[in-house]
Amino acid sequence: MYSSSRSGNEYQYNNDFHQNPLPHIAFEHLIKSGTSLPSILMLMVGIDGLPITKNPPSQLWPNLGYFSNISDSSVFIISSYYGKPKPEDSYKYLSDFVNEICVLINDGVMYNNIHVKLHLKALINYAPPKSFALNFKGHTGKKSCIRCHTIGSFWNNRIYFPQINAPLRTHDEFRLYSDSDFHCGKTILLDIPKFDVISSVPFDYMHCILIGVTKKLLMFWTGGIKQHNQNLPKN
Ligand SMILES: [Zn+2]
Repeated sequence: MYSSSRSGNEYQYNNDFHQNPLPHIAFEHLIKSGTSLPSILMLMVGIDGLPITKNPPSQLWPNLGYFSNISDSSVFIISSYYGKPKPEDSYKYLSDFVNEICVLINDGVMYNNIHVKLHLKALINYAPPKSFALNFKGHTGKKSCIRCHTIGSFWNNRIYFPQINAPLRTHDEFRLYSDSDFHCGKTILLDIPKFDVISSVPFDYMHCILIGVTKKLLMFWTGGIKQHNQNLPKN
């Protein structure tokens, strides 16, 4: 593990890139468990930030991973960032990760005389870290859907997306950065081989469905938001 200070904030990357090219916690776990490895490890990565203190404000951003085609794969830390503001530049924030994963995808490593390569199967984020990592408009923007070209409307102090058949975005189109209303800048994630930034970045079930729609419906029905003639009775 090494750490560096970027803009006064602490950043840690989780392994010695030259001596132990897999994230070492995951690698140790795989060795100890005697797991037989497939020739291609499917890596799932989650990027998220969480507040640590309120006053003064500080945040921790762990990058977490697990292998989806190893039955007992544990979640491991790939890198972590601690700072007062959130990481400002996603290009710098993700550069160590992307540099390492490119080697693991292209060249792989030898393990018990087996040549193991990596494939980044999915990047799983909720909306703010997703737009940060891929450098496009945040989810309150009118052009902020990574899957399609829908344009949001503003009503009742919120953006909503009434269109259901907008033309779909594609990875090749994303590479061109041709939609200036959608892109904020370049993303280093496009450097990752065989990684489709549209189809391999799924919607996040917990925030979209559970915390998003389901929680709002429950609060609405029980009168938790505002009184409404369709609220359920209090008792
Ligand atoms: Zn869409």
